[in-house]
Amino acid sequence: MRVEERLYTLRYKRDEKPHLEIKDQANCAKCYDTYKSPCITVCPANVYSFTEGKIVISYENCLECGACKIVCPFNNIIWRYPRYGLGISLRYG
Ligand code: SF4
Ligand code: SF4
Repeated sequence: MRVEERLYTLRYKRDEKPHLEIKDQANCAKCYDTYKSPCITVCPANVYSFTEGKIVISYENCLECGACKIVCPFNNIIWRYPRYGLGISLRYG
């Protein structure tokens, strides 16, 4: 099954409260210059983008894989699961 087909099997219930946050945007600016922001590279769902000197998080697209938290060189991401019943769920599972 292709990745696009697998993604189609997911459903997302939006949590109004973002489950991902940046601790300090100044670290992201440094990271972008030094490490090219690995969160952008590693995220399979294009949740992170760097715009006007800041990291923007489209948390609604998150697949809850946890990769961004692991690769962040500044430990700069506050990562929680969405609140109970919200976030991704498997359509056939
Ligand atoms: Fe910011 Fe971490 Fe992403 Fe770097 S990897 S841009 S420090 S959130
Ligand atoms: Fe992207 Fe995974 Fe991080 Fe969600 S947990 S933002 S899908 S890398």
